[in-house]
Amino acid sequence: MAVMVYKCPHCGAALEFDAEMQKMTCDYCKSEFTPEQALAGEQNAEPQDIREETPEDSEFFNGHIKAWHCPECGADIVADANTAATFCRFCGAPALIETNLTGDYRPVRLIPFKISKDEAKEAFLKWCHHGKITPKDFASEQQLEKITGMYVPFWLFDCQVEGMASGIGTRRRTWIHGDVQYTNTQYFRIRRRADLHFMKVPADGSKGMDNDMMDHLEPFDYTQLIEFQMPYLSGYMAEKYDESHEAVYPRVQERIDQYTYAQLRDTISEYQTVQMDGHKTIFRQSNAMYSMLPVWMLTYRYQGQNYLFAMNGQSGKVVGTPPKDPKRILMRSGVLGLIVYVLLVLIGGFLL
Ligand SMILES: [Zn+2]
Ligand SMILES: [Zn+2]
Repeated sequence: MAVMVYKCPHCGAALEFDAEMQKMTCDYCKSEFTPEQALAGEQNAEPQDIREETPEDSEFFNGHIKAWHCPECGADIVADANTAATFCRFCGAPALIETNLTGDYRPVRLIPFKISKDEAKEAFLKWCHHGKITPKDFASEQQLEKITGMYVPFWLFDCQVEGMASGIGTRRRTWIHGDVQYTNTQYFRIRRRADLHFMKVPADGSKGMDNDMMDHLEPFDYTQLIEFQMPYLSGYMAEKYDESHEAVYPRVQERIDQYTYAQLRDTISEYQTVQMDGHKTIFRQSNAMYSMLPVWMLTYRYQGQNYLFAMNGQSGKVVGTPPKDPKRILMRSGVLGLIVYVLLVLIGGFLL
């Protein structure tokens, strides 16, 4: 087991992936490299750049926490067992935990961050209206610094399905002959069948992530999926999946089933009334591809409740609801009330 730090070939400082430049950048000598160059540098690196874990390093505290030596400063990097990319708490070096990114845990694809931290901060302030009615510290500089770029493990499913739906449709004709009104109702048995091919239906593979929240961050533009390479994670947080594709598959099936049914239902338009009485989606073939998708995140606990700000790190779409401080809402409406009152008094004064 080892912790990886990608180093600048010029000065030896740690490299981070920069969303704006779409390059690996060195904060010290301002050099830029492609992720491929960073990888090539890694192969030529001196052995001491990759510190093998010694037995006393692999301490397990209640089985969930692990500790590694930071290759930069030697301090302990303590992380959750699922952590794949993090930072050294002491020197700030971006550290990648190789064991959680290799073998079964090596993602096949990833979408690199397109939104920088500054853009995420700006969007956060806009989202919470600069904290006007949130708790006071919510939009503070300190809080803004906590916004974290996180690669979330996702399963992307390609599925071939056969969808079927059935129902009864009616057509009614009414006419009057003499004093009598006649109605003729015809009943039709409706059957629809279609083959559909779904591409890249996402489901997050992390138990800790709110599924609904992650679904709401969609869509991601999958034409920008690229082959996974570790250097992209440098400077971000990342977790390996802790939900297998088998575990999330029912969720994906449910979504596809609903969509397939809606598509079939949409083709039925030639009747006056339609009563659907059955539908079925058969999954002919499914493949899941392990991928990492970029999300900016901030969690905040207020009055016993968790609030989450989440932003699609590719498109900039924001989801979540900011916390509200009742006292500050009252104060603001109080101020407004006062202004209205003063205005009324003024107008009243003019009217007299
Ligand atoms: Zn450098
Ligand atoms: Zn360190």
